[in-house]
Amino acid sequence: MKKERHVLVVFPHPDDEAFGVSGTIAGHIDNGTPVTYACLTLGEMGRNLGNPPFATRESLPRIRKRELQEAAETMGLTDLRMMGYRDKTLEFETPGALKTMVEELVAELNPSLIISFYPGYAVHPDHDATGEAVVAALADMPPSSRPTFYALAFSNNHEEEIGKPDVHHSVRAYALTKLDTLRAHASQLAWTLPELEKSYHEGLPEAVERLENERFFTYRFD
Ligand SMILES: [Zn+2]
Repeated sequence: MKKERHVLVVFPHPDDEAFGVSGTIAGHIDNGTPVTYACLTLGEMGRNLGNPPFATRESLPRIRKRELQEAAETMGLTDLRMMGYRDKTLEFETPGALKTMVEELVAELNPSLIISFYPGYAVHPDHDATGEAVVAALADMPPSSRPTFYALAFSNNHEEEIGKPDVHHSVRAYALTKLDTLRAHASQLAWTLPELEKSYHEGLPEAVERLENERFFTYRFD
């Protein structure tokens, strides 16, 4: 993993970091690199309230906030920003509001690397809106001072259109941290984890890939 000055991670929902980036976050923190995670909403519209229900629409944000804090602690992350936007509404935000938010974070933190979603290839409208805001904010910066943007893409069509990720981090050393980070988001993920953990310990290639490797696209502004 390349040594960075400061890493800024921007995602709309608690748990967006867990599968794709938690190993990378833990690795940078281990390297002594400051990492800031700006999480835009508390995922209060999350589909899962449990069966039988453990949460209501009213209690879900409180639960997910606690889970997010626990996930941050698991990764060793101390600079967690909860930005207070509402889940499933980001695409309807006043034009420019999210861009300004990203610009302010960049001005304050001077990151050398930003990690977020690849707009248009991130499946959920909140994901795409977040990635668009990052691109809009960075596109306005002079190339010489612009942070690198590592984008996550996972829509079905992404490979045909943008190819394969060019950045690969082996996060094998953090695979168990990653499992614990996933576990922290119990309200959304708990029921998927015993199977993943079992497959991982049995060495199933798909589980090993998910927990030991993180892949990104370097976003091209030209
Ligand atoms: Zn999400």
